[in-house]
Amino acid sequence: MSQHPEVAQRTERFGSLRYHYPTRRLTFARPRATAGRPLTEELRGGLDAPICLTWELTYGCNLACRHCLSSSGRRDPGELSTGECREVIDELARLRVFYVNIGGGEPTIRPDFYDLVDHAVDRGVGVKFSTNGTTITPARAARLAATDYVDVQVSLDGADAATNDAVRGEGSYAAARRAMDHLAAAGFGAFKISVVVTRHNVGQLDALEELAASYGAHLRLTRLRPAGRGADVWGELHPTADQQVALYRWLVERPEVLTGDSFFHLSALGAPLPGLNLCGAGRVVCLIDPVGDVYACPFALHPEFRAGSVRQAGGFAGVWRSADLFRRLRQPAAAGACASCGSYDACQGGCMAAKFFTGLPLEGPDPECVHGHGEAALAAVGPGTAPRPGPGHSRPRAGGEPVAFRGRRKA
Ligand code: SF4
Ligand code: SF4
Repeated sequence: MSQHPEVAQRTERFGSLRYHYPTRRLTFARPRATAGRPLTEELRGGLDAPICLTWELTYGCNLACRHCLSSSGRRDPGELSTGECREVIDELARLRVFYVNIGGGEPTIRPDFYDLVDHAVDRGVGVKFSTNGTTITPARAARLAATDYVDVQVSLDGADAATNDAVRGEGSYAAARRAMDHLAAAGFGAFKISVVVTRHNVGQLDALEELAASYGAHLRLTRLRPAGRGADVWGELHPTADQQVALYRWLVERPEVLTGDSFFHLSALGAPLPGLNLCGAGRVVCLIDPVGDVYACPFALHPEFRAGSVRQAGGFAGVWRSADLFRRLRQPAAAGACASCGSYDACQGGCMAAKFFTGLPLEGPDPECVHGHGEAALAAVGPGTAPRPGPGHSRPRAGGEPVAFRGRRKA
Protein backbone atom coordinates (compact mmCIF):
# COMPACT_ATOMS: atom_id res chain seq x y z
CA MET A 1 0.00 0.00 0.00
CA SER A 2 1.65 3.21 -1.08
CA GLN A 3 1.40 6.33 0.98
CA HIS A 4 0.46 9.66 -0.49
CA PRO A 5 3.63 11.84 -0.36
CA GLU A 6 1.76 14.69 1.26
CA VAL A 7 0.46 12.36 3.96
CA ALA A 8 3.92 10.95 4.52
CA GLN A 9 5.17 14.49 5.04
CA ARG A 10 2.44 15.19 7.56
CA THR A 11 3.08 11.96 9.36
CA GLU A 12 6.71 12.89 9.68
CA ARG A 13 5.80 16.32 10.93
CA PHE A 14 3.67 14.92 13.73
CA GLY A 15 6.19 12.40 14.98
CA SER A 16 6.25 8.70 15.33
CA LEU A 17 3.40 7.82 17.68
CA ARG A 18 1.03 5.89 15.47
CA TYR A 19 -2.61 6.80 15.83
CA HIS A 20 -5.01 4.32 14.36
CA TYR A 21 -7.37 6.38 12.33
CA PRO A 22 -10.44 4.75 10.87
CA THR A 23 -9.57 5.16 7.24
CA ARG A 24 -8.92 2.65 4.55
CA ARG A 25 -5.68 3.66 2.93
CA LEU A 26 -4.37 6.36 5.14
CA THR A 27 -2.24 5.93 8.20
CA PHE A 28 -1.98 8.96 10.38
CA ALA A 29 0.23 9.85 13.24
CA ARG A 30 -0.81 11.67 16.34
CA PRO A 31 1.17 14.60 17.71
CA ARG A 32 4.20 13.61 19.73
CA ALA A 33 3.81 14.40 23.43
CA THR A 34 6.42 16.91 24.41
CA ALA A 35 8.72 15.88 27.25
CA GLY A 36 6.88 15.98 30.55
CA ARG A 37 3.62 16.96 28.90
CA PRO A 38 1.08 14.16 28.42
CA LEU A 39 -0.61 13.89 25.04
CA THR A 40 -4.08 14.59 26.46
CA GLU A 41 -2.85 17.93 27.80
CA GLU A 42 -1.38 18.74 24.41
CA LEU A 43 -4.74 18.01 22.78
CA ARG A 44 -6.69 19.88 25.45
CA GLY A 45 -4.92 23.09 24.51
CA GLY A 46 -6.01 22.70 20.87
CA LEU A 47 -4.06 22.03 17.67
CA ASP A 48 -3.17 24.14 14.64
CA ALA A 49 -5.78 22.22 12.66
CA PRO A 50 -8.51 19.82 13.74
CA ILE A 51 -7.76 16.09 13.74
CA CYS A 52 -11.40 15.26 13.35
CA LEU A 53 -13.20 17.69 11.09
CA THR A 54 -16.75 16.78 10.20
CA TRP A 55 -18.34 18.52 7.24
CA GLU A 56 -22.02 18.09 6.70
CA LEU A 57 -22.39 18.81 3.02
CA THR A 58 -26.17 18.97 2.98
CA TYR A 59 -29.20 18.83 5.23
CA GLY A 60 -31.01 16.96 2.46
CA CYS A 61 -31.76 13.32 3.11
CA ASN A 62 -33.97 10.70 1.53
CA LEU A 63 -34.52 9.00 4.91
CA ALA A 64 -35.78 10.45 8.19
CA CYS A 65 -34.00 8.54 10.94
CA ARG A 66 -35.50 9.08 14.34
CA HIS A 67 -32.18 9.96 15.99
CA CYS A 68 -30.69 12.13 13.22
CA LEU A 69 -28.15 14.36 14.96
CA SER A 70 -28.64 17.18 12.46
CA SER A 71 -32.46 16.94 12.04
CA SER A 72 -31.93 16.48 8.32
CA GLY A 73 -34.52 16.15 5.59
CA ARG A 74 -34.76 19.18 3.31
CA ARG A 75 -31.83 20.86 1.59
CA ASP A 76 -31.14 24.38 2.77
CA PRO A 77 -31.23 27.02 0.00
CA GLY A 78 -28.18 28.62 1.60
CA GLU A 79 -25.94 25.55 1.26
CA LEU A 80 -22.38 26.22 0.17
CA SER A 81 -22.11 26.22 -3.62
CA THR A 82 -19.77 23.90 -5.48
CA GLY A 83 -17.26 26.74 -5.83
CA GLU A 84 -17.44 27.56 -2.12
CA CYS A 85 -16.96 23.88 -1.23
CA ARG A 86 -13.88 23.75 -3.44
CA GLU A 87 -12.50 26.83 -1.69
CA VAL A 88 -13.07 25.19 1.70
CA ILE A 89 -11.21 22.08 0.50
CA ASP A 90 -8.32 24.22 -0.76
CA GLU A 91 -8.16 25.90 2.61
CA LEU A 92 -8.16 22.55 4.44
CA ALA A 93 -5.30 21.44 2.22
CA ARG A 94 -3.35 24.60 3.07
CA LEU A 95 -4.02 23.91 6.76
CA ARG A 96 -2.72 20.38 6.20
CA VAL A 97 -5.89 18.80 7.57
CA PHE A 98 -5.32 15.03 7.33
CA TYR A 99 -8.78 14.10 6.27
CA VAL A 100 -12.35 15.21 6.45
CA ASN A 101 -15.40 13.27 7.65
CA ILE A 102 -18.16 14.09 5.20
CA GLY A 103 -21.73 13.55 6.28
CA GLY A 104 -25.10 15.23 6.25
CA GLY A 105 -27.93 14.58 5.65
CA GLU A 106 -27.09 12.12 2.95
CA PRO A 107 -24.06 13.71 1.26
CA THR A 108 -24.29 11.63 -1.90
CA ILE A 109 -27.55 13.30 -2.92
CA ARG A 110 -25.60 16.45 -3.79
CA PRO A 111 -25.07 16.27 -7.55
CA ASP A 112 -21.48 17.54 -7.10
CA PHE A 113 -20.63 15.02 -4.34
CA TYR A 114 -18.21 12.82 -6.31
CA ASP A 115 -16.54 15.83 -7.94
CA LEU A 116 -15.92 17.30 -4.49
CA VAL A 117 -14.47 13.99 -3.29
CA ASP A 118 -12.12 13.97 -6.28
CA HIS A 119 -11.15 17.58 -5.60
CA ALA A 120 -10.30 16.77 -1.98
CA VAL A 121 -8.29 13.70 -2.93
CA ASP A 122 -6.44 15.67 -5.62
CA ARG A 123 -5.47 18.20 -2.94
CA GLY A 124 -4.23 15.44 -0.60
CA VAL A 125 -7.14 15.69 1.83
CA GLY A 126 -8.42 12.19 2.58
CA VAL A 127 -12.19 11.71 2.63
CA LYS A 128 -14.23 9.49 4.87
CA PHE A 129 -17.92 9.80 4.17
CA SER A 130 -21.00 8.45 5.87
CA THR A 131 -23.91 7.21 3.82
CA ASN A 132 -27.20 5.43 4.33
CA GLY A 133 -26.22 3.39 1.28
CA THR A 134 -29.31 4.10 -0.81
CA THR A 135 -27.37 5.69 -3.67
CA ILE A 136 -24.42 3.30 -3.79
CA THR A 137 -24.94 1.51 -7.09
CA PRO A 138 -22.51 -1.05 -8.53
CA ALA A 139 -21.06 1.69 -10.78
CA ARG A 140 -20.54 4.10 -7.86
CA ALA A 141 -19.03 1.34 -5.76
CA ALA A 142 -16.58 0.64 -8.58
CA ARG A 143 -15.72 4.35 -8.82
CA LEU A 144 -15.07 4.48 -5.08
CA ALA A 145 -12.99 1.33 -5.19
CA ALA A 146 -10.82 2.96 -7.85
CA THR A 147 -10.24 6.10 -5.74
CA ASP A 148 -7.42 6.14 -3.21
CA TYR A 149 -7.71 8.04 0.08
CA VAL A 150 -11.46 7.52 0.32
CA ASP A 151 -13.21 5.59 3.03
CA VAL A 152 -16.91 4.74 3.25
CA GLN A 153 -19.00 4.32 6.35
CA VAL A 154 -22.38 2.67 5.84
CA SER A 155 -24.87 3.38 8.62
CA LEU A 156 -26.77 0.45 10.07
CA ASP A 157 -28.54 0.48 13.43
CA GLY A 158 -29.45 -3.16 13.85
CA ALA A 159 -28.37 -6.65 12.88
CA ASP A 160 -31.76 -7.31 11.32
CA ALA A 161 -34.28 -5.30 9.36
CA ALA A 162 -36.81 -5.09 12.19
CA THR A 163 -34.35 -3.48 14.62
CA ASN A 164 -32.68 -1.22 12.07
CA ASP A 165 -35.82 -0.08 10.27
CA ALA A 166 -37.55 0.82 13.54
CA VAL A 167 -35.03 3.66 13.82
CA ARG A 168 -33.92 4.37 10.25
CA GLY A 169 -37.15 3.69 8.34
CA GLU A 170 -38.73 0.95 6.27
CA GLY A 171 -36.40 -0.58 3.70
CA SER A 172 -33.26 1.09 5.04
CA TYR A 173 -31.70 -2.17 6.21
CA ALA A 174 -32.06 -3.74 2.77
CA ALA A 175 -30.62 -0.58 1.15
CA ALA A 176 -27.59 -0.55 3.44
CA ARG A 177 -26.93 -4.25 2.84
CA ARG A 178 -27.17 -3.72 -0.93
CA ALA A 179 -24.58 -0.96 -0.68
CA MET A 180 -22.28 -3.27 1.29
CA ASP A 181 -22.75 -6.01 -1.29
CA HIS A 182 -21.84 -3.58 -4.09
CA LEU A 183 -18.75 -2.31 -2.24
CA ALA A 184 -17.61 -5.86 -1.56
CA ALA A 185 -18.24 -6.94 -5.17
CA ALA A 186 -16.28 -3.92 -6.43
CA GLY A 187 -13.30 -4.87 -4.28
CA PHE A 188 -13.45 -1.70 -2.21
CA GLY A 189 -11.78 -3.37 0.76
CA ALA A 190 -12.43 -2.71 4.41
CA PHE A 191 -15.27 -0.22 4.52
CA LYS A 192 -16.90 0.63 7.87
CA ILE A 193 -20.25 -0.38 9.25
CA SER A 194 -21.29 2.43 11.55
CA VAL A 195 -23.77 1.67 14.32
CA VAL A 196 -25.40 4.07 16.77
CA VAL A 197 -25.73 1.98 19.92
CA THR A 198 -29.29 1.95 21.28
CA ARG A 199 -31.26 0.09 23.90
CA HIS A 200 -32.61 -2.14 21.13
CA ASN A 201 -29.43 -3.07 19.27
CA VAL A 202 -26.93 -3.28 22.13
CA GLY A 203 -27.79 -6.97 22.47
CA GLN A 204 -26.83 -7.49 18.81
CA LEU A 205 -23.20 -6.42 19.00
CA ASP A 206 -21.91 -9.94 18.42
CA ALA A 207 -24.14 -10.31 15.37
CA LEU A 208 -23.01 -6.92 14.05
CA GLU A 209 -19.40 -7.90 14.58
CA GLU A 210 -20.02 -11.10 12.59
CA LEU A 211 -21.73 -9.15 9.85
CA ALA A 212 -18.76 -6.80 9.55
CA ALA A 213 -16.37 -9.75 9.50
CA SER A 214 -18.38 -11.41 6.73
CA TYR A 215 -17.65 -8.38 4.52
CA GLY A 216 -14.08 -7.93 5.70
CA ALA A 217 -15.35 -4.61 7.06
CA HIS A 218 -14.60 -2.76 10.32
CA LEU A 219 -17.28 -2.25 12.92
CA ARG A 220 -17.59 1.27 14.26
CA LEU A 221 -19.83 2.05 17.23
CA THR A 222 -21.03 5.49 18.16
CA ARG A 223 -22.91 6.83 21.10
CA LEU A 224 -26.50 8.02 20.81
CA ARG A 225 -26.38 11.69 21.74
CA PRO A 226 -29.46 13.79 22.46
CA ALA A 227 -28.66 16.07 19.48
CA GLY A 228 -31.01 16.99 16.63
CA ARG A 229 -34.00 14.63 16.47
CA GLY A 230 -31.98 12.41 18.82
CA ALA A 231 -33.10 14.73 21.63
CA ASP A 232 -36.69 13.57 21.09
CA VAL A 233 -35.86 9.86 21.34
CA TRP A 234 -32.87 9.84 23.66
CA GLY A 235 -34.91 8.91 26.75
CA GLU A 236 -36.49 6.02 24.88
CA LEU A 237 -33.44 4.72 23.03
CA HIS A 238 -30.28 5.38 25.04
CA PRO A 239 -28.88 2.20 26.63
CA THR A 240 -29.83 1.46 30.22
CA ALA A 241 -27.24 1.56 33.03
CA ASP A 242 -26.85 -2.24 32.92
CA GLN A 243 -26.46 -2.14 29.14
CA GLN A 244 -23.74 0.51 29.47
CA VAL A 245 -21.76 -1.81 31.74
CA ALA A 246 -22.23 -4.73 29.32
CA LEU A 247 -21.16 -2.47 26.44
CA TYR A 248 -18.02 -1.41 28.31
CA ARG A 249 -17.07 -5.05 28.96
CA TRP A 250 -17.70 -5.93 25.34
CA LEU A 251 -15.53 -3.06 24.13
CA VAL A 252 -12.68 -3.82 26.54
CA GLU A 253 -12.36 -7.24 24.92
CA ARG A 254 -12.39 -5.77 21.43
CA PRO A 255 -9.90 -2.92 21.10
CA GLU A 256 -10.13 -3.28 17.33
CA VAL A 257 -13.72 -2.00 17.27
CA LEU A 258 -13.66 1.67 16.31
CA THR A 259 -15.36 4.11 18.68
CA GLY A 260 -13.70 7.52 18.24
CA ASP A 261 -14.51 9.55 21.35
CA SER A 262 -17.92 7.97 21.83
CA PHE A 263 -17.53 6.01 25.02
CA PHE A 264 -14.78 7.61 27.09
CA HIS A 265 -17.33 8.26 29.87
CA LEU A 266 -17.46 4.45 30.27
CA SER A 267 -13.75 4.41 31.11
CA ALA A 268 -14.87 5.35 34.63
CA LEU A 269 -15.72 1.64 34.96
CA GLY A 270 -12.08 0.51 34.86
CA ALA A 271 -9.36 0.36 32.25
CA PRO A 272 -9.56 3.20 29.72
CA LEU A 273 -11.06 2.34 26.35
CA PRO A 274 -9.00 2.97 23.22
CA GLY A 275 -9.76 6.20 21.37
CA LEU A 276 -9.82 9.83 22.31
CA ASN A 277 -10.32 10.04 26.06
CA LEU A 278 -11.51 13.58 26.35
CA CYS A 279 -14.08 15.91 24.85
CA GLY A 280 -12.29 17.32 21.84
CA ALA A 281 -14.92 19.95 20.99
CA GLY A 282 -13.17 23.03 19.62
CA ARG A 283 -9.78 21.52 20.51
CA VAL A 284 -9.31 18.73 18.00
CA VAL A 285 -12.90 18.33 16.77
CA CYS A 286 -15.27 20.66 14.95
CA LEU A 287 -18.07 20.76 12.42
CA ILE A 288 -18.71 22.75 9.26
CA ASP A 289 -22.44 22.66 8.56
CA PRO A 290 -24.03 22.80 5.08
CA VAL A 291 -24.34 26.59 5.08
CA GLY A 292 -20.73 27.02 6.20
CA ASP A 293 -21.31 27.67 9.89
CA VAL A 294 -18.60 26.26 12.13
CA TYR A 295 -19.59 24.53 15.37
CA ALA A 296 -17.51 23.07 18.19
CA CYS A 297 -18.74 19.54 17.51
CA PRO A 298 -21.14 17.72 15.16
CA PHE A 299 -23.39 16.95 18.12
CA ALA A 300 -23.60 20.56 19.24
CA LEU A 301 -25.73 22.20 16.55
CA HIS A 302 -26.98 25.06 18.68
CA PRO A 303 -26.24 28.81 18.59
CA GLU A 304 -24.37 28.41 21.91
CA PHE A 305 -21.70 26.36 20.12
CA ARG A 306 -21.50 28.27 16.83
CA ALA A 307 -17.99 29.67 16.50
CA GLY A 308 -18.31 31.48 13.14
CA SER A 309 -18.62 30.80 9.43
CA VAL A 310 -16.28 29.77 6.64
CA ARG A 311 -17.91 32.61 4.68
CA GLN A 312 -16.56 35.30 6.98
CA ALA A 313 -13.24 37.09 6.42
CA GLY A 314 -10.41 34.75 7.42
CA GLY A 315 -12.41 31.68 6.41
CA PHE A 316 -12.26 28.43 8.33
CA ALA A 317 -8.69 28.98 9.54
CA GLY A 318 -9.69 32.29 11.10
CA VAL A 319 -12.54 30.65 12.99
CA TRP A 320 -10.45 27.67 14.11
CA ARG A 321 -7.60 29.82 15.36
CA SER A 322 -9.35 32.86 16.77
CA ALA A 323 -13.03 32.23 17.63
CA ASP A 324 -13.79 33.26 21.20
CA LEU A 325 -15.74 30.05 21.75
CA PHE A 326 -12.80 27.87 20.71
CA ARG A 327 -10.41 29.87 22.87
CA ARG A 328 -12.72 29.28 25.84
CA LEU A 329 -13.06 25.55 25.13
CA ARG A 330 -9.27 25.22 25.04
CA GLN A 331 -8.99 26.49 28.60
CA PRO A 332 -8.96 23.91 31.41
CA ALA A 333 -12.56 22.91 32.15
CA ALA A 334 -14.06 23.14 35.63
CA ALA A 335 -15.01 19.73 37.05
CA GLY A 336 -17.95 21.09 39.07
CA ALA A 337 -19.88 18.30 40.76
CA CYS A 338 -17.41 15.74 39.30
CA ALA A 339 -14.49 17.23 41.22
CA SER A 340 -14.77 14.77 44.09
CA CYS A 341 -15.19 11.73 41.84
CA GLY A 342 -12.32 9.25 41.84
CA SER A 343 -13.03 8.46 38.18
CA TYR A 344 -12.64 12.00 36.90
CA ASP A 345 -9.25 11.42 35.29
CA ALA A 346 -10.74 8.59 33.24
CA CYS A 347 -14.10 10.11 32.40
CA GLN A 348 -13.48 13.89 32.48
CA GLY A 349 -17.15 14.44 33.19
CA GLY A 350 -18.20 12.98 29.83
CA CYS A 351 -19.74 14.59 26.76
CA MET A 352 -20.46 18.31 26.63
CA ALA A 353 -23.25 17.93 24.05
CA ALA A 354 -24.99 15.16 25.99
CA LYS A 355 -25.00 17.36 29.08
CA PHE A 356 -26.15 20.47 27.24
CA PHE A 357 -29.12 18.94 25.45
CA THR A 358 -30.34 17.12 28.55
CA GLY A 359 -30.31 20.39 30.52
CA LEU A 360 -27.33 19.50 32.74
CA PRO A 361 -24.58 21.97 33.64
CA LEU A 362 -21.46 21.58 31.47
CA GLU A 363 -19.30 21.35 34.57
CA GLY A 364 -20.76 18.24 36.16
CA PRO A 365 -21.66 14.64 35.40
CA ASP A 366 -22.60 13.17 32.06
CA PRO A 367 -26.27 12.09 31.88
CA GLU A 368 -25.01 8.51 31.49
CA CYS A 369 -22.50 8.74 34.37
CA VAL A 370 -21.68 5.16 35.26
CA HIS A 371 -21.86 5.99 38.97
CA GLY A 372 -25.47 7.11 38.64
CA HIS A 373 -24.81 10.83 39.25
CA GLY A 374 -26.27 11.73 35.86
CA GLU A 375 -29.63 10.22 36.68
CA ALA A 376 -29.75 12.14 39.93
CA ALA A 377 -28.85 15.36 38.14
CA LEU A 378 -31.44 14.72 35.41
CA ALA A 379 -34.14 14.32 38.03
CA ALA A 380 -33.48 17.91 39.07
CA VAL A 381 -33.92 19.30 35.52
CA GLY A 382 -37.31 20.94 35.20
CA PRO A 383 -39.59 19.55 32.47
CA GLY A 384 -39.13 21.44 29.20
CA THR A 385 -36.13 23.44 30.44
CA ALA A 386 -33.39 21.61 28.47
CA PRO A 387 -32.19 23.63 25.44
CA ARG A 388 -33.95 22.52 22.25
CA PRO A 389 -31.95 21.74 19.12
CA GLY A 390 -34.80 23.26 17.05
CA PRO A 391 -36.73 21.66 14.18
CA GLY A 392 -33.73 21.82 11.86
CA HIS A 393 -34.50 20.65 8.35
CA SER A 394 -36.93 17.85 9.16
CA ARG A 395 -39.51 17.49 6.41
CA PRO A 396 -42.97 18.73 7.36
CA ARG A 397 -45.74 16.18 7.64
CA ALA A 398 -48.95 16.51 5.64
CA GLY A 399 -50.60 17.76 8.85
CA GLY A 400 -47.92 20.42 9.38
CA GLU A 401 -45.91 18.74 12.16
CA PRO A 402 -42.22 18.10 11.49
CA VAL A 403 -41.37 14.58 10.43
CA ALA A 404 -39.30 12.98 13.12
CA PHE A 405 -39.93 9.47 11.96
CA ARG A 406 -40.87 7.69 8.80
CA GLY A 407 -40.31 4.06 9.75
CA ARG A 408 -42.14 1.67 12.01
CA ARG A 409 -42.06 2.31 15.70
CA LYS A 410 -41.11 -0.46 18.03
CA ALA A 411 -43.87 -1.51 20.36
S1 SF4 B 1 -19.31 17.33 22.94
FE1 SF4 B 1 -19.42 15.08 23.14
S2 SF4 B 1 -19.46 14.33 21.02
FE2 SF4 B 1 -18.71 16.47 20.98
S3 SF4 B 1 -16.49 16.32 21.05
FE3 SF4 B 1 -17.21 16.53 23.16
S4 SF4 B 1 -17.45 14.43 23.90
FE4 SF4 B 1 -17.31 14.32 21.67
S1 SF4 C 1 -19.20 11.73 38.56
FE1 SF4 C 1 -18.42 12.80 36.74
S2 SF4 C 1 -16.27 12.13 36.50
FE2 SF4 C 1 -17.29 10.68 37.90
S3 SF4 C 1 -17.98 9.02 36.59
FE3 SF4 C 1 -19.68 10.43 36.80
S4 SF4 C 1 -19.53 11.83 35.04
FE4 SF4 C 1 -17.55 10.77 35.27
